[in-house]
Amino acid sequence: MVDYEGYKFGFGCMRLPVGEGGPADFDYPKIEALFDEFLARGFTYFDTAYTYHGYHAEEAVGKVLVARHPRNSFQLATKLPLRDFKDAEDMERIFAEQLEHCDVDYFDYYLLHNMGHNVYAKCVEHDAFGFVARKKTEGKIRNVGMSFHDMPELLEEILGVHGEVLDFVQLQINYADWDQPNVQSRRCLEIANAHNLPVVVMEPCKGATLVNVPQAARDAFEAAAPGSTPASWALRFAGSQPGVFMVLSGMNELEQVQENCDTFANFQPLTEAELDVVWQARAAIEAESAIACTACEYCTHDCPQNIPIPQYFALYNSVMRTTGSFSSQTVYYNNIVQSGRGKASECIKCGLCEAACPQHLPIRGHLESVADKFEDPSFFPTRK
Ligand code: SF4
Ligand code: SF4
Repeated sequence: MVDYEGYKFGFGCMRLPVGEGGPADFDYPKIEALFDEFLARGFTYFDTAYTYHGYHAEEAVGKVLVARHPRNSFQLATKLPLRDFKDAEDMERIFAEQLEHCDVDYFDYYLLHNMGHNVYAKCVEHDAFGFVARKKTEGKIRNVGMSFHDMPELLEEILGVHGEVLDFVQLQINYADWDQPNVQSRRCLEIANAHNLPVVVMEPCKGATLVNVPQAARDAFEAAAPGSTPASWALRFAGSQPGVFMVLSGMNELEQVQENCDTFANFQPLTEAELDVVWQARAAIEAESAIACTACEYCTHDCPQNIPIPQYFALYNSVMRTTGSFSSQTVYYNNIVQSGRGKASECIKCGLCEAACPQHLPIRGHLESVADKFEDPSFFPTRK
């Protein structure tokens, strides 16, 4: 169990300000201003990863945070890249590199990054859970965690077998994904709660999707609390959930840092009446979906290619609403494919699904759009 008593808001370092030269062309003066403001407000938790910013975010965090502030004035979280490591020896190499990148002797929080069907067998084969447990015993990790972008059934299975190793889990929780079949935030949170594992929330604003909401959603928020922002509602939703000890947000403007710190410095859990407002906003967002799928699942019963059609349409709708460069929806897509389901591009156009669809959707054509969006092999960068 984690021993944490600060504000429940952390700085996500996956969207740091950069210049024109690519993801590692850091705007250092601006990052310094953002981090310093965050710390000056009394917030102390920073979350990075080996893979962020083309594998260079840890170095930026080392320069801006670690080199300029006392080690005991902040908590640093980073992650073992589960797609990248080859074997047990390689985990040691990466971990040593991470300590060097960040210029620290230990990590306050260290996570197995993006656990899912695609990497779970490899983690078991090479005992990644044993590796992080050993690093904790050696004093190199204070708290062991796992970030998770997959289905609740797999979360239940992993926590049942390896839950003892973990001090916390990091989950994608936001009001848009709460009951979405492709993410199932609510069910994943319930499972973490049942295992008594404290939760770090990632993607509380779903990229910037819940910041740039449709006008009808803005109107609902404004009517309930004049002057409030969509971001504050999304963050309060995440922070109000049981078992959540930390909510992360990737920020790259000073105003965002100030506004979000204000939300958490005076944190007010959502009331029942406010929760109704959030559901109104969610309905307004869903009304603008690119594909009007109701997730009834009738189409999947006879599909000879075992394609999870409604899950792919939910991911497509999400990605079409997402603003900014990074979308976790592609991670979910890859995890679904790795679990053995058919890719969108494997549709043989038999038409059985369309005959079953009560919404009369042109499913075959929509699957082509899904394939165009998600089957781009250049999505995951490799270390240069
Ligand atoms: S048209 Fe494609 S998605 Fe629909 S049932 Fe046939 S194979 Fe499955
Ligand atoms: S039958 Fe139509 S509405 Fe129902 S899940 Fe399939 S595509 Fe969506």
